[in-house]
Amino acid sequence: MGSKEDISRLFHYIKELTPPSSIIGYKVQEGSVVFGALERPEELVLGLPPRIPQFSPKYILLPPEHVLVHVNRDYAVTTKHQVAGSIVLFGIKPCDLLAMRILDCILMARHPVYTSTRGSLKLIVAEECLRPLETCFCGDVKAGPLIEDHCDIAYAIVGDTVFFKALSGAGLGILRDLRLSTPGEKELEKYMEASRIATERASGKIPVPLALRKELVDKTARVDLWRDVSRKCLACGSCNYVCPTCFCIELEDMLQGDGEAARVAKWIGCRTYTYGLVAGGHFRRELYTRYRHFVLHKFVFYEKQVGRTGCVGCGRCTTWCPAGIDLKESLREVSRWK
Ligand code: SF4
Ligand code: SF4
Ligand code: SF4
Repeated sequence: MGSKEDISRLFHYIKELTPPSSIIGYKVQEGSVVFGALERPEELVLGLPPRIPQFSPKYILLPPEHVLVHVNRDYAVTTKHQVAGSIVLFGIKPCDLLAMRILDCILMARHPVYTSTRGSLKLIVAEECLRPLETCFCGDVKAGPLIEDHCDIAYAIVGDTVFFKALSGAGLGILRDLRLSTPGEKELEKYMEASRIATERASGKIPVPLALRKELVDKTARVDLWRDVSRKCLACGSCNYVCPTCFCIELEDMLQGDGEAARVAKWIGCRTYTYGLVAGGHFRRELYTRYRHFVLHKFVFYEKQVGRTGCVGCGRCTTWCPAGIDLKESLREVSRWK
């Protein structure tokens, strides 16, 4: 147990470890919360900002645009995805942790840039969310708002007190070195109460996933339903880009000047028109089919791919939808439709 000052001490401790690592987390830049390199602990965004940031660890692990293959003017082919040095993620959220595990199942050992960046991750320090946002529903999909595993150190802020948990051998060693005090019964009670309220606040917003899956399968062919829930959609793909578990890319071969060329991977979203455009036609020409695919993929197909729902309840797709479409409401509508 400690104070916010101890989060700074933890940051400095990690910064001074050898070999040095880049510390990456949420920070404010030009008035927006972004995900990037942190130089000082004062840059850290503690707690959740008023709306969930559009960026997530995906932005670092699978950048929006990345070179897979480079060809020089002598036709020598090289792959350019070695990561310089190691990385520490600091202050990421419980839903981010689960999103990374989902991406691991899909991309590890399959996508070279993801695999190499993930391999350079040395330490993860994550923050429990004791004040979930209105848009958060991680409790419904068992992604948060508390942390039990899959990082090295977790911390939670309750008023002026910060509770630290070591969740790996490395994390335990660091917290021992920081010589933090052990919380008393009263402090623990406060933490437990804050955790209970947070879990309640992040739950009960969508139909129970198991029942929802059955409803989605049963109602897949209800064209009237899908036309209705997708009626406001602009097919912009913003929901795909901000979603921490969407992983689709398209490839483009580009000339890079001086006779060199590169095969570049770029994010693409299944709700955009071009996603389904292939040689010889289009496999999801109507917008409602693309809207439906997104929902079915997250709540039905991911189950087969990674053994659980592909939605971590972060609410990014809702927060950053220019048409104001709320995924939670779409799911409730599917459930209500007779
Ligand atoms: S962000 Fe909203 S409008 Fe854009 S594709 Fe997604 S649901 Fe449709
Ligand atoms: S579908 Fe929406 S709520 Fe679910 S993980 Fe993606 S962005 Fe978050
Ligand atoms: S969805 Fe849950 S874990 Fe993610 S930011 Fe919101 S409260 Fe935190």
